[in-house]
Order: sequence, then C-alpha cells, then structure tokens
Amino acid sequence: MNRKSISSQYSRRKFIHDLSVNAGMAALAVNGLNLFSSCDDNKEKNKGSAMAKDNQNKLGIALVGLGNYAGGQLAPALEQTNDCYLAGIVTGTPSKIDTWKGKYNIPDKNIYNYQNFDSIKDNPDIDIVYVVLPNSMHAEYVIRAAKAGKHVICEKPMAITPEDCDRMIAACKEAGKMLSIGYRLHFEPYNVEMARLGTKKVYGNVKKMNAGFGFPIGDPTQWRLNKKLAGGGPLEDVGIYCIQGFCYTTGLDPIAVIAQEGPKTDKEKFRDVEQSLTWELEFPGNIICHGKASYSEGLNYLQAEAEKGVFELTSAFNYSGQKGNTPAGPMDLPKVNQQAKQMDDFAQAVKNKRPTPVPGEMGKRDVKIIQAIYQAMETGKKVEIR
Ligand code: NDP
Repeated sequence: MNRKSISSQYSRRKFIHDLSVNAGMAALAVNGLNLFSSCDDNKEKNKGSAMAKDNQNKLGIALVGLGNYAGGQLAPALEQTNDCYLAGIVTGTPSKIDTWKGKYNIPDKNIYNYQNFDSIKDNPDIDIVYVVLPNSMHAEYVIRAAKAGKHVICEKPMAITPEDCDRMIAACKEAGKMLSIGYRLHFEPYNVEMARLGTKKVYGNVKKMNAGFGFPIGDPTQWRLNKKLAGGGPLEDVGIYCIQGFCYTTGLDPIAVIAQEGPKTDKEKFRDVEQSLTWELEFPGNIICHGKASYSEGLNYLQAEAEKGVFELTSAFNYSGQKGNTPAGPMDLPKVNQQAKQMDDFAQAVKNKRPTPVPGEMGKRDVKIIQAIYQAMETGKKVEIR
C-alpha cells in the first residue's frame, strides 16, 4: 500500500494553487439550477462542524479517505455549506484521527476505519458517504455505503470500468439511495457559462472545441502512477475534465474517437501509465473536440469555436481563478466555493427527492469515453462510442 501520497501530492496541489489567479474561494449552475452566490457570507458557518447545534436540519456527511482532496478542499468546504456538514470520517490511518477530531469536533462514535465501515449503517448522524479514495477503490466503497443505507457522493473518475459503474448504480438503486459524482465544475459559474453559451447557441453552433489539463506530477511512488489503483494516467485524473467540458458545452455525448499517446521522457516514472496523450472526439453534427492530458506539462484551457466567434476559459478547471472570454468581452462572474455548492446541491437533491445534475449515469458515460480513448490510443484506430 502506497501511503506516501501526502508529500507526493505536493507538486499537484501547489501547481493547482499556483495556477489559481484568485486566492478567494472558488465555483455553477447547470441544467437550470441557479447556484450563484458568494461564499463570503457563509464563511466558516459550520465551524466545529459535527457538534454545532444549527446542524439539526443539515444532512451529515462522512468523508472516506482523508487525503489531500478530503483534507485540503472538502472538509474546509463543509464549513461553508448550508444543507450538509462534516459529521464523520473513515480512515485507515489512526494517526490522522486526532487532528481531524480536533479541527472538526467529530465525536468518536462517528469515526470509522475500513474494517468497521459497514457498521456505519447503524449511525443516524451519517446521511451521505463521500468516497474520496484512490480510483480503483471507489466501486467497493460506494457499494458498501449503499448497502449500509447511505446516499453516496463518489469522486471522479467514478470507477475503472463501466461494469463497475453498473454495479455501483445498481447497488444504490437497490438500496433506494442517491448517487452523485464529484463533478464540482457543474457548480462553478465560468464553466456553467460555457455550457450556457454552447447549448443555447448564443454564438451559433459550436463547430470545434479544444481543451487541455495537465500538471507536472511529483513523487514517482504515488498511486496516481500505479495503473492498478488509478486505472490509467493523466486521462483518468485530469483529462476527464476536458471530456466533461466538451459534453457540457455542446450538450451532447461523443460518438467516436481517435487518440495518440505522447512521448515518455521518463520511462521509469511512467512505466505503468501514459505520461501524456491527445485525442480527438467526434460529436453528432460533426463537432470535433481536441483534448490533451499531461503529467508533465501545465495545461488548463477550454475553448469553443462557434459560428459567430470563439468563447473560452483560459483558466478553466482549478478550484478557483477561472478566467473567460467571449466575442462580447471578458466574463465577469461570481467567485464561489465549488465544493460547497456541489455538496449543498446534493444535500438539497436528497432532501427534496429530486435528481442530481451529476448522477452515476454521467460518471459511467465518462468512464466509457475514457475506455474508448485508451482503446483508440492502443490500437491507433478510430473507436466508436456506444
Ligand atoms: P490522496 O492520495 O491524497 O488521498 C487518498 C486517501 O485515500 C489517502 O490519504 C488514504 O486516506 C486513502 N487510501 C486508502 N487506501 C489507499 C491506498 N492504497 N493508497 C493511497 N491512499 C489510500 O488522493 P486525493 O485526495 O488527491 O484523491 C482521492 C480521490 O479524489 C481520487 O479519486 C481523485 O481522482 C479525486 N480527486 C478529485 C478532485 C476534484 O477536484 N474533484 C481533486 C483531487 C482528487 P486514509 O489515510 O485516511 O485512509
């Protein structure tokens, strides 16, 4: 088990932070949801999360896997949420418990490890389990959470195979519980605006798109470079944001792909997964979308070429610092906390029994697209996506 991930993730975190122009809290509204609001008025409203009295009408979330994303983004975001709060933790590292207990006031009865996790079924404080583990572990923990009678948020990519996605979706359906994917950019105003401009055809039909996301990866021993745990390389980790960007900007799903692996300049570090790759997705209406994902190069853009001009995000995918341009001028949209909006939206969906805009089915679609891209990369042939 590779547990060097905290230090190993430093370069990724720092890179994402450095790319963020605005230090303010980051995030959208797609599918008619209007989630735009400043996070400032919410700041630290759930301080001392699990014990706060005003949590009575909020849903309790348990984070599973206390790594960089859970600790650096999700737990702080849960101090700004209106409809949910950090109620519990699940960790395989006992030494993390005191820090989390102290910081978030989590009672002992809401602290689990991977062995006793299933007994979370008897804990009424926990309504939602949020799986923030390495990619290959998502399926097992989503299914166990559903069997324990909890609603589930699962980080991206949803799983390694579409078959696992099917099992996860079925487990949640069987338990009568909701499942959503941690697609935070559906709650980020600049990305929502890309979706609006594209799907409403504000500048005419989109003809072509370009997107790239990449960063220089650090520690060679981290799970992101281990195919068994990660499923693949930068395509699984960050290329998925480009795929998402193409789909929400066009409002369509792709039908075919060709792809090419980039050169490996460090054959040892990238012995298991690709160092970079480029792909070309074909969408209905002959819309062609070029994507690039890299573990050695800084990339962060989402661009659409439409009949009446180009609209784009030149800083597209980070936790904050989005920047955008349209033929009518620069975008000037609110800064929000993406993760707080994402988790609040799911909590509202659960409370109001309405669908989430980022369901397991969307996660499965993207896992299928990722598989098709890898197949195209490996065979050098065009692969149809059904
Ligand atoms: P980290 O490596 O920082 O954390 C993963 C955590 O999982 C560990 O700290 C550990 O927590 C637990 N874990 C259990 N088994 C293992 C194992 N065999 N190897 C390593 N860790 C293990 O990863 P991240 O937090 O960066 O990523 C976690 C998930 O979140 C991934 O699926 C990733 O794609 C996704 N993610 C999503 C982001 C987004 O913007 N939506 C951003 C970053 C990540 P413990 O010690 O508590 O058991």
